[in-house]
Amino acid sequence: MHVNYCGKKLITQEKTLLMDKVLKELESYLSKDIPYSRVLSSMCTNPHPVAVKAHCMFVRANLGDPGLFPGTFELEKKLISMLGNFFGNSNAVGYVSSGGTESNIQAIRAARNVYGKGNIVVPDSAHFSFLKVADLLGIEVKRAKLDDEYRVDVADVERLVDENTFAIVGIAGTTELGQVDDIKSLSKIAVERDIYLHVDAAFGGFVLPFLGYKDFDFRVKGVCSIAVDPHKMGLATIPAGVILFRKEEYLHSLSVETPYLTSTKQYTLTGTRPGTGVASAYAVLKHLGFDGLRKIVLECMRVTKILKEEVEALGLKPVIEPVTNVVCFECKACRVRELLMKEGWYVSTIRKPEAIRCVVMPHVTEETVSKFVDSLKRVLRAL
Ligand code: PLP
Repeated sequence: MHVNYCGKKLITQEKTLLMDKVLKELESYLSKDIPYSRVLSSMCTNPHPVAVKAHCMFVRANLGDPGLFPGTFELEKKLISMLGNFFGNSNAVGYVSSGGTESNIQAIRAARNVYGKGNIVVPDSAHFSFLKVADLLGIEVKRAKLDDEYRVDVADVERLVDENTFAIVGIAGTTELGQVDDIKSLSKIAVERDIYLHVDAAFGGFVLPFLGYKDFDFRVKGVCSIAVDPHKMGLATIPAGVILFRKEEYLHSLSVETPYLTSTKQYTLTGTRPGTGVASAYAVLKHLGFDGLRKIVLECMRVTKILKEEVEALGLKPVIEPVTNVVCFECKACRVRELLMKEGWYVSTIRKPEAIRCVVMPHVTEETVSKFVDSLKRVLRAL
């Protein structure tokens, strides 16, 4: 059997499949995946078409060896600079990571490298990536209580900070409730105690600025780093996270020597690293601009309000008034989730209180909400 590859005829073994057949097989697996139109449990969404095109253009790039891909590397620097400016620091440095998890790991690693070993204090609402941080870095991660609105209790953070604490974390858009911590008060603690403050804005980074929030980024004095994910509300392709540092010292503290590459040092966590996220995130920002993203966020908030009101009318109480495009409803969550899944809907449950969680990503339209609420009505009747 003969197939063409790079203009050459290759003889394949009998057992191998023709490209069309392979792709057909892949399609059959792909068709088993859940379409986003039925998903209210995820902070990811369909990437913007321009992101998909950009992604495909950059599939061969490996930023792990940037000297071979100087164009992609230049684009990454441009993207980091755009985002640094957007988050209030034209001198910010950083790179495109695989997502919020890697960005959080790298932020705390840099804090540890610059400020010394010991413990960190995170809100009890912190994403589970901080469990990985604890395990990988061999540090203690103390969890501060939340207040009645599920923001971190700043007094409890203050109580937990001791002489071995080298970093505290604030969250701008919590995973479960979309809530925003008081970053200004956390900054005050960080400055007074001379410790590092990392802001996990993996979700909120591309939401909060469009809702008028200013006090969560580098404009706040004590903020040393920010995690923000273009592959969430930035409509980029997966994987595309960004870690931004206030100054070069933090990024450089992550460097190891790379004897056989085009660069002499590498500060990223992974070695081989895609350029697709760089290209897709950049393409969305250039094509839609921050104004375009604002329109999308405002539409998500409009739909969130409709969802909140319609579900409230069915008798389920929202855990908090939605701050971002996330809304949770108190109910017998596991059972409701199970029955919704039978109706073809995917929602998640949260740790505290017992509630289902709906993330109103751009793929969740008013029409989606109307169909979802019809299903929820049936589910609640069946309970
Ligand atoms: N931080 C926050 C606040 C998140 O919501 C998430 C994911 O939802 C993460 C970190 C982890 O991001 P990723 O899954 O892209 O690693």
